Amino acid sequence: MERKQHKVIFLDRDGVINKDPASINKYSYVTKWEEFRFLPGAKRAIKKLADAGYAIYVISNQAGIAKGYFTLKALKSITENMLREIEKSRGKITRVFYCPHRDEDNCGCRKPNVGLFEKALKGGDIDFKRTFFIGDKIMDVQAGRAIGCRTILVLCGKESLRNKKNWKLKPDHVKRDLLDAVDWILKKRGKV
Ligand SMILES: [Mg+2]
Ligand SMILES: [Zn+2]
Repeated sequence: MERKQHKVIFLDRDGVINKDPASINKYSYVTKWEEFRFLPGAKRAIKKLADAGYAIYVISNQAGIAKGYFTLKALKSITENMLREIEKSRGKITRVFYCPHRDEDNCGCRKPNVGLFEKALKGGDIDFKRTFFIGDKIMDVQAGRAIGCRTILVLCGKESLRNKKNWKLKPDHVKRDLLDAVDWILKKRGKV
């Protein structure tokens, strides 16, 4: 019998769910809840995924912690607020996984490493080939590919098509934003 869980989706956070913080403060990280701005359509997209029965895992690098720009406590508060707002709009994120390290820490969880994906799936078994990772950087595409996911690059964050010639990797799909990506996935796959 098929035991694999098909309905999992991985999302990057900054530039996918919320506005890329580079334009919000000098740190280029969301350092407090007041700096977290949902991107248009993001909450609706998450609700659609939840309605369709997907478990959503957020996989996010937050090196601003290692750099001392904000604390784990601040990050926890940002996350609680984010999840509360998402639940208010009847969406649901199953779990959020962060890497608080920076490059020099050589950890296994900072994307493009796959430690956070493995942590998210601990005890579970999914068919990666049928699972998407949606991110806004080519580094996300790299991470998704390393774990064997299909990758969607959204253009509502760091990347633009103008820079396409410099992309080290080609994403499997490119979509305008999270809602565009989710509508495409649900249409493609049907809702059951
Ligand atoms: Mg991002
Ligand atoms: Zn890490």
